[in-house]
Amino acid sequence: ASDTEEHLQNAGCRTLSLSAHVGFDSLPDQLIRKSIKHGFCFNILCIGETGIGKSALVSSLFNTDFEDSPSTHFLSSVRLRAQTFELQESNVLLKLTVVKTVGFGDQMNKADSYQPIVDYVDAQFEAYLEEELKVIRSLFSYHDTRIHVCLYFISPTGRSLKTIDLLTMRSLDSKVNIIPVIGKADSISKTELQEFKKKIMSELTSNGIRIYQCPTDDETVSEINSITNGYLPFAVVGSMEKVKIGNKMERARQYPWGIVKVENENHCDTIKLRRMLCINMEDLKDKTRAYYESYRRCRLEKLGCRDIGPENKSVSLQEVIETKRLEFCLEVERKEEEIWQRFVQRVKEKAAMLEEAEQQASMPVLTEFEYLTLMHQEEELKLGKEKKLLEDEKTQFVEKKAVTESSQSQVSVSSPVS
Ligand code: GDP
Repeated sequence: ASDTEEHLQNAGCRTLSLSAHVGFDSLPDQLIRKSIKHGFCFNILCIGETGIGKSALVSSLFNTDFEDSPSTHFLSSVRLRAQTFELQESNVLLKLTVVKTVGFGDQMNKADSYQPIVDYVDAQFEAYLEEELKVIRSLFSYHDTRIHVCLYFISPTGRSLKTIDLLTMRSLDSKVNIIPVIGKADSISKTELQEFKKKIMSELTSNGIRIYQCPTDDETVSEINSITNGYLPFAVVGSMEKVKIGNKMERARQYPWGIVKVENENHCDTIKLRRMLCINMEDLKDKTRAYYESYRRCRLEKLGCRDIGPENKSVSLQEVIETKRLEFCLEVERKEEEIWQRFVQRVKEKAAMLEEAEQQASMPVLTEFEYLTLMHQEEELKLGKEKKLLEDEKTQFVEKKAVTESSQSQVSVSSPVS
């Protein structure tokens, strides 16, 4: 109460006392009634290799046999399978979504195994953001699929975490509440288990991986939560079967040497995990909202939205949208101008190319004509020369003939016929 008073005073409010009963002390009851009517929703993501006991554990946690087909070891990539169920306990409705990895750790190259999981978690944030930004939105009836808790199954090797475990948890620890669990914990001895738990926690710390810690600041749950934090990572055992123990049917695993009871806290931590989830469900959801807030902030900042503009002035969403619209229009205009200039340039280049081609096409006709004329002229010259030679020869012949004829006539005059 003193916290509330202090808060109100800081906000500029005065605290007054009522002179008589008004009735607003029923507000919490109204909230309870509303919540019961609306129901609750909780989303679990189970990450772990095929056959580590994810399905058996979820069935054991919620005391329900969820139908699910066993998955194969031969998938080429990791996938996620989501199933939603409606459960009811007393008058409380719980819409439970269980998302399980399929094919996790089954590939030769495991380096990218975590990527589809990160994408899935982000996709649920994105879907919620889209709903939130709609003009006509219905967040109250919207099926919120954001992951509230991630149960990360560690193989009961008794040695250390694998690279794939470290990589996956590190890529998710800023997006989701991670609770590490040791699957099939009945296959590891009691002393080995304690050592293994310590080793896992120190490896997580040395690799800077943040896992979910139950809150200890609420005095109603601080004690149980600080004890529960000490059990991390939970050593879980699950079973789809019920075994007759005494005159009761109990969820258990029966072996030739004895029975492992899922709900026995001396045998495993499954009940501790269930209790922890139930006590802290609202806290897990609050923390999920905080993860969502940072996703939302990053997305909106990337889109150019901000609350404070230049000169530290606050910016309304309408201003942001208007600025973005103007920026977009200018960008479109710039792009259009660029495309037009490019088009004009290309038309010019094409025209120049055509002109050149036309010139080249007409050039061979001219050359041929000129060539023929030249040939003709050359032929004419040659014939002219030959003609002159013949004429010279003819003149010489005529002269010679005349000389010969005159000398013959002189001979006949000087020697008369006897
Ligand atoms: P999933 O592929 O991870 O969902 O694994 P399942 O829950 O389908 O379990 C695969 C096999 O392991 C089944 O034969 C289960 O009976 C068995 N199994 C499940 N949980 C446990 C457990 O806690 N301990 C042991 N020893 N076996 C388990």
